[in-house]
Amino acid sequence: MPSGGFASSINASLAQADASNARSDAREAKSETELLRHDVDRLLMITEALWTFLKKEHGYSDEELANAVNGIDLRDGRLDGRAEQPQASPCPNCGKINSARRSLCIYCGQPLPVTLFAS
Ligand SMILES: [Zn+2]
Repeated sequence: MPSGGFASSINASLAQADASNARSDAREAKSETELLRHDVDRLLMITEALWTFLKKEHGYSDEELANAVNGIDLRDGRLDGRAEQPQASPCPNCGKINSARRSLCIYCGQPLPVTLFAS
């Protein structure tokens, strides 16, 4: 490490720029997190509103909902509060494996079966 003089001054400036960039990145990540939290809160309210309709109009109970949620959670064999992750699957046309996130086969362009609740 150079000490004193011009090189030291440049290093200090670079460190300040890095710190400034890191602060900016942190602010941006915090904003994105706040937006996502807002979206999750809104989705939870909508889900709860829909659930009140199902209870009132169709007579379902909270226990039935809890059992259904646990059943979905257990599809991957683990009760961990997370849904099964979609698996890569073969194209119905060419048989090559595609990511579960794709809507079209990357090899032949065939539309792939839709997974409604894939994340
Ligand atoms: Zn294909």
